[in-house]
Amino acid sequence: MRDFAFTVIQESDSYMAMATTVEDVAATPETIGVADNGHVEAPDILISDPDLESIWEKVKHGERLSAEDGVKILETEDFSAVGLMADYKKRQFSGDKVYFVLNRHLNPTNICVLSCKFCDYAKKPGAEGAYEMSMEEMLDHLDGDIRELHVVGGHHPTWPFEFYVDMIRELHNARPDVQIKAFTASEIDYFWRRWKVPPEESLAIFKEAGLSSMPGGGAEVFSDRIHKLLLPGKAKADRWLEIHRIAHGMGIKSNCTILYGHVETFRERIDHLILLRELQDETGGFLALIPLEYQVGYTKLRPRHTPPMDDLKMLAASRLILDNVLAIKSYWVMLGEATAGMGLNFGANDLDGTIGKERIAHAALADSPAGIARRNMVASIKDAGRIPVERDALYNEITVYN
Ligand code: SF4
Repeated sequence: MRDFAFTVIQESDSYMAMATTVEDVAATPETIGVADNGHVEAPDILISDPDLESIWEKVKHGERLSAEDGVKILETEDFSAVGLMADYKKRQFSGDKVYFVLNRHLNPTNICVLSCKFCDYAKKPGAEGAYEMSMEEMLDHLDGDIRELHVVGGHHPTWPFEFYVDMIRELHNARPDVQIKAFTASEIDYFWRRWKVPPEESLAIFKEAGLSSMPGGGAEVFSDRIHKLLLPGKAKADRWLEIHRIAHGMGIKSNCTILYGHVETFRERIDHLILLRELQDETGGFLALIPLEYQVGYTKLRPRHTPPMDDLKMLAASRLILDNVLAIKSYWVMLGEATAGMGLNFGANDLDGTIGKERIAHAALADSPAGIARRNMVASIKDAGRIPVERDALYNEITVYN
């Protein structure tokens, strides 16, 4: 047994029971690693790569990094220096806190009209392994003490728009305490293409039915070259950004993602992050960035996974370039638990969630076990020397495990 209060709580206990049990171990403000005035002392960093000197000066003085700076961070061999820089930047956002959420992923169907070349998940109607969940199966995902339900799926050829509205409404009515984070910008765009429901209208209807926020998927890499190569039928960068802009304008917060480690260049990765940064300057509606490592799976766009050192540099570059978004996720489902834990020293301040019943990453042979227990989440964060903070989907803090 690990030596902290959380271990007394079994995974099957209700959230209310957990909240009562841990009440007296919530952290006081002075435990979060940031001085009262929010000032974070810049560490002394031994820099061996001269290219990083000017970047560190900018970071220390709160200056914005350029695309060229971002590429240098991804290219450098000075691994520890970029980690320390990103860690310094992260402390300015959240001190030593690392967030996680008790959540489930619901993927209602894998039937999809598109055929993105990196996707192991989608099936055509009638193909072996194609599935469509019943409403009962979907409601079954609202088990236990979850706070967030993450809903994304294929672009189904015949499910009418009203079916999706009923889905959100029934899920919300069954568990109004669970925040529903549903439908990527690509799916919202598809409701327009297929059913002629414009994003302003679909998002308003979903919000009224119980949608709380939007996930960040479907962004992939904002590059016309990549779009043409890998996802020609999907919403392009300007459309993805437009839909998030609309959502933010309606008070719907969202996440953002980048899918890296396939055929994109470093410059394309950084340009993508800068487009996200620009939209965040405009709307302030992004809560978190999730850098998604491409899973080799069966698609074989690349023969090997991205090496862990490169994953960690990607987290650091994300933290340093995206200087206006609260959270950078070290997404353990795709990185694996060991690399995700190391990511907490490379600018990440979120481990995502417990993710029972997650299907998409595992269709691509991600090797992490689905459904990591809450206690393991707390333990992983503690093992990295950080302070676990359980949050809800909107980054309201629920419990600090200190
Ligand atoms: S990535 Fe999404 S849109 Fe593309 S084929 Fe897979 S499920 Fe369909």
